[in-house]
Amino acid sequence: MRAMVLEAPKMPMKLMDVPIPQPEKNQVLIKVHSCGICRTDLHIIDGELPHPKLPLILGHQIVGIIEKLGEAVNNFKRGDRVGVPWLGGSCGKCEYCQKGQENLCDHAVYTGYQLNGGFAEYCVANSNFIFPIPSSYSDLEAAPLLCGGLIGYRAYRMTAKAKTIGFYGFGSSAHLLTQLAVFQGREVYAFTRPGDTKGQEFAKSIGAVWAGNSNEEPPVQLDAAIIFAPSGELVPQALKVVCKGGVVVCAGIYMSDIPSFPYSLIYGEKILRSVTNLTRQDGEEFLQLATQSRIKTTVTSYELEQVNEALEELRKGEFFGSGVIVIDELK
Ligand SMILES: [Zn+2]
Ligand SMILES: [Zn+2]
Repeated sequence: MRAMVLEAPKMPMKLMDVPIPQPEKNQVLIKVHSCGICRTDLHIIDGELPHPKLPLILGHQIVGIIEKLGEAVNNFKRGDRVGVPWLGGSCGKCEYCQKGQENLCDHAVYTGYQLNGGFAEYCVANSNFIFPIPSSYSDLEAAPLLCGGLIGYRAYRMTAKAKTIGFYGFGSSAHLLTQLAVFQGREVYAFTRPGDTKGQEFAKSIGAVWAGNSNEEPPVQLDAAIIFAPSGELVPQALKVVCKGGVVVCAGIYMSDIPSFPYSLIYGEKILRSVTNLTRQDGEEFLQLATQSRIKTTVTSYELEQVNEALEELRKGEFFGSGVIVIDELK
């Protein structure tokens, strides 16, 4: 099969012909139709996330059709359309797994990081960690829901009952979660890179009540803010714009160092927290909510061979919404 393979960090992925993987006991073999690109892919390629499996096929927002079942699989059948997210498996036994916090499992494995992912014609995945894809989404539209959507949703859940929410970094996650927030009667304030007026227009076009530069203050104090961009400098800025008792959630898997800031910025019972990975429950809840609230994905598509270019465009913020690699004909 054709696959884009990373041989070492800080190198471009290379198109290679590799054997089709065979599903083990609890795995399914999936013919990949589409796979979303994500900031995390850049963090792995740039060497910011340690110890990836090498050589590695990246890609952790996979949509495809099950072609073969491992001998112990009984929760899916051949021909089912499924999605594979970042969490590829957890141990089920550690303290975190026992408490329903499998996102924090010490022995978890991640798709497109420790396990081969979806920038390939086929992949295998543990059938207990994949989701049926709602029929209202095409393969292309569904891919961004699996990380931008799921992990974005976990961050969004941490804002509890916030009525006004700021999103720092208006990419794949923010454009999906804005629609859910609007559906639930909340107000979204979009913060983009300074001067990105097109990004600000895009944010307003999908429902943000206000959009501005990340170093600006919005017209009202916010109940919560989610930082999707990997820049630690945004933390003091976000703390500044949330009200007393407000929460700032860092949603990325990696962030540059947070600069020191005066205690007064967090005084007033403000909360600063991160979000780590996802649980299967997040996935189930979000996919259901996405259908109910009719979240639409704005997608730019690329061929498999264009993964390196697609990720560079993501780095530079050259497209709105989500980038998706299309591997097979679309349905
Ligand atoms: Zn991701
Ligand atoms: Zn565990």
